[in-house]
Amino acid sequence: MHQSNPFESALIQLEKAIKHLNLTSAQIERLRLAEKIISVNFPVTMDDGTIQLFNGFRVQHNSARGPYKGGIRFHPQVDMDEVKALAFWMTIKCAICDIPMGGGKGGVEVDPKKLSENELERLSRAYVRAIATDIGPDIDVPAPDVNTTPQIMRWMTEEYIKIKSKIQNPKSKITEKEKSRLMVTFTGKPFDFGGSLGRNEATGRGGSYVLLALLAKLNEKFQPKADQPLDEKMKNEKLTVAVQGFGNVGFYIAKFLSDAGLRVVALSDSRGAIVVNNLKQDSLNPNLVLSCKKEKGTMSKCYCIGSVCDIKGGKSISNDELLVLPVDILVPAALENQITGENAGKIKAKVVLEMANGPTTPEADELLHKKGIIVVPDVLANSGGVTVSYFEWMQNLKNEHWSEEKVNSQLKKKMEQAFAAVWKEKENLHSSMRTAAYVVAIKRIVEKM
Ligand code: GLU
Repeated sequence: MHQSNPFESALIQLEKAIKHLNLTSAQIERLRLAEKIISVNFPVTMDDGTIQLFNGFRVQHNSARGPYKGGIRFHPQVDMDEVKALAFWMTIKCAICDIPMGGGKGGVEVDPKKLSENELERLSRAYVRAIATDIGPDIDVPAPDVNTTPQIMRWMTEEYIKIKSKIQNPKSKITEKEKSRLMVTFTGKPFDFGGSLGRNEATGRGGSYVLLALLAKLNEKFQPKADQPLDEKMKNEKLTVAVQGFGNVGFYIAKFLSDAGLRVVALSDSRGAIVVNNLKQDSLNPNLVLSCKKEKGTMSKCYCIGSVCDIKGGKSISNDELLVLPVDILVPAALENQITGENAGKIKAKVVLEMANGPTTPEADELLHKKGIIVVPDVLANSGGVTVSYFEWMQNLKNEHWSEEKVNSQLKKKMEQAFAAVWKEKENLHSSMRTAAYVVAIKRIVEKM
């Protein structure tokens, strides 16, 4: 199978938007090229005493609107082109949700599942030592991404403070004020360590706000035609959802959509998927699936419907099968390149909500668009995470502590504004939502260049 290069995909997406804009070649080049690419090889002592060298990156794509912002991913497939694409998407994402930050991304090529807790800590700290001179509260602000957690952000922040305090104040101890300033270098920290309420749930919650805004729009639009299946079902609040991926983002989007009255009928993790027996009636309880998975160490056979997990309640299928289930909403919430030229033609969902970054290849995107399937692009759908990261950064800088209610209501406002801007541009251009999202973002970025 031809594996799409995510950076090439990102450039194709950019190209489509550029056609609608009147940009100079210098502006286009600045959008295509990262401002800085940092590639590091750093040693980590393993539990058996051996020293292993790891390969990591931090790509700083664009700072026209503010400090670089974006997560750090630990994954065996991390490479420079992937991180370049992810950093580029962050620039677009921050502009769409209109936060004053640019785009960056980091990654380490590692399978964290093969590391012990201590090795993971040493790796996290070593990576920060390797990139420390290039990050800071008003330079570049990293956060969690695939396989990185609030705890990892804590280790990284501690390490960063240690390094900086040695440089800034080699003799005397660092003051509390200096320390709290340095803490602002990372977001997605644990709540008792400067983190924001609601950050952990933010990507999933933001995605649910975007989807509900879309469904309301479709409902409004399709109101006169009683034969629209989406519309009919919406009245009964019985839209079905399949979610690929059960990490932080996959779990929370499943939970919030289920809380909103949609029916989650299939879920998956990297090892496989589960689906209910009766798609017309049954729905999975994401909370129970999560506790069942924790208990058993695997999701397979966690067919948790209502308040019971019954081994006979569903069946195990592959991740590929999940993508082509006859559901209303398909939510890829795992990695890049899941919806491709090979399976796009078989997709039956009416809406694809991209909670992962880059899950759809450009070839698949065209096919879905031609079929009339609405793709809510990653740069809009999953921008809730970075939005609450921005809230965390702001709270830290102003020494404020927002209530969870305030975080969620501000997030809702941001997501609805972003959706409205993209939808308006889409109607105006008669384009896909992705192209419209890029046009909205690029206009805002070039204004500040
Ligand atoms: N990793 C997340 C993303 O891809 C969040 C980034 C952040 O909070 O800075 O959007």
